[in-house]
Amino acid sequence: MGTTYEIRSFRGVFAFLSNFFPCTIIYDGQTYLNLEAAFQAAKCADPADRAPFQSMDAAAAKRLGRSVTLRPDWELIKLPILAELVSVKFTSHPALLKNLLATGDLYLSEDNTWHDNYYGNCVCPRCRNIPGQNYLGHILMRFRDQQRLVLNNRQENNHIKEAVQ
Ligand SMILES: [Zn+2]
Repeated sequence: MGTTYEIRSFRGVFAFLSNFFPCTIIYDGQTYLNLEAAFQAAKCADPADRAPFQSMDAAAAKRLGRSVTLRPDWELIKLPILAELVSVKFTSHPALLKNLLATGDLYLSEDNTWHDNYYGNCVCPRCRNIPGQNYLGHILMRFRDQQRLVLNNRQENNHIKEAVQ
């Protein structure tokens, strides 16, 4: 058995993987201070409810998100929207994309103690034996794979161009 290399905490040098990481997110014509705020705002049935999220840090946005009236299709579209926001985040911040690509093939999971076994994996005594579904980790890894392909294709095309010149 070889060693399994994994990133199990989105803190410290890996804080940029967290939805709480402060970075401008422009989504649906509005500007947010972090991905979490954009994601929570996207839940709102009434677009007018999105405005307060624009000036909120991630923790405040998460709290407010618990009390908004959800758009009726939220359960169906929340993962596609999260994937879209991850794409917006990393394509609009090249330094973050570089960091993401630098994680190579490492398994990504936001292990936590706040009982989130949906987007991440809670490791508290009560949840320890529940496998986290880790949807955020999977979205990040899939996006990372796609970006690596884009990068490789671009490099290959450059090589071809150089070869034919
Ligand atoms: Zn737990």
